[in-house]
Amino acid sequence: MRGLRTSPGAAWATLERLLQEQGAAPRAFERPERAVVLPIREGAEVLGYLYSRVPEGVAPDAWLAKTQSFVSELGVAFRRVKLFQEVERLSEIDGLTGVRRRGAFDKKISEELVRAKTFKTTFGVMLLDIDHFKSLNDRFGHPFGDQVLKRLGAVLNGLVYDTDFVARYGGEEFAIVLPRAEPAGALRKAEAIRAAIEAELFSVGFEELRVTVSIGISHFPRDAGTPEELVARADAALYAAKSAGRNRVVDSDALRRSS
Ligand code: GH3
Ligand code: MG
Ligand code: MG
Repeated sequence: MRGLRTSPGAAWATLERLLQEQGAAPRAFERPERAVVLPIREGAEVLGYLYSRVPEGVAPDAWLAKTQSFVSELGVAFRRVKLFQEVERLSEIDGLTGVRRRGAFDKKISEELVRAKTFKTTFGVMLLDIDHFKSLNDRFGHPFGDQVLKRLGAVLNGLVYDTDFVARYGGEEFAIVLPRAEPAGALRKAEAIRAAIEAELFSVGFEELRVTVSIGISHFPRDAGTPEELVARADAALYAAKSAGRNRVVDSDALRRSS
């Protein structure tokens, strides 16, 4: 639609007026030029409009009928594109946890880096690893471990902003990209995540138990300028959180200051 603004204004002005007056009805008109305008629909939703001049010697109604069939095919094409995007989105999502897969995270962090450099913004990266997960599996079985992973995926998805990006980074590790987060905000968010997971109660047989996580944070541009280095910094911070006793958050900035 925006492209129309660059053409002589009359057609655009007419189209705008028609849309206001007529809503989504197809319509042929004579002035300021012989043209038709039709809604492009996908089901009940109007995706956009097609504006087309009526060729010389063709009756407007005949042209309307002709463009109508073209436009309904456009609707089908749009629907196909949407389905394709949905399949792509689903293939990015880890089946067990409902968060993105590792590959999607790698792509996201690279994109975010370009965006942050271009627009001079910041972002945070979190790596989260479940504490003593191996012994949980050993004590209660792998299927229970899977249930824990599934619940943590849901908790994480529920806690972050829609613009944040949660992925399963490895077996029992998650990674989160926090676009535009300031260091203090990323730290607060990590602490909230840590506390929320600690508060979850899991039932297995007659037992109830809690699971804790350790989290490492890095930040762009403070810590590094490449995806690999940002992940490495977050990983070093995660390692420090494990060494310091687990169930805690370490910001990679604290490592640098203490070393
Ligand atoms: P810590 O991180 O606190 O140092 O201890 P940990 O026991 O969690 O450490 P480690 O990384 O050595 O163990 C991870 C375990 O996670 C090993 C593996 O059995 C388990 N694991 C990895 N992927 C899955 C999975 O998809 N399902 C289940 N149930 N377990 C998994
Ligand atoms: Mg691990
Ligand atoms: Mg672990």
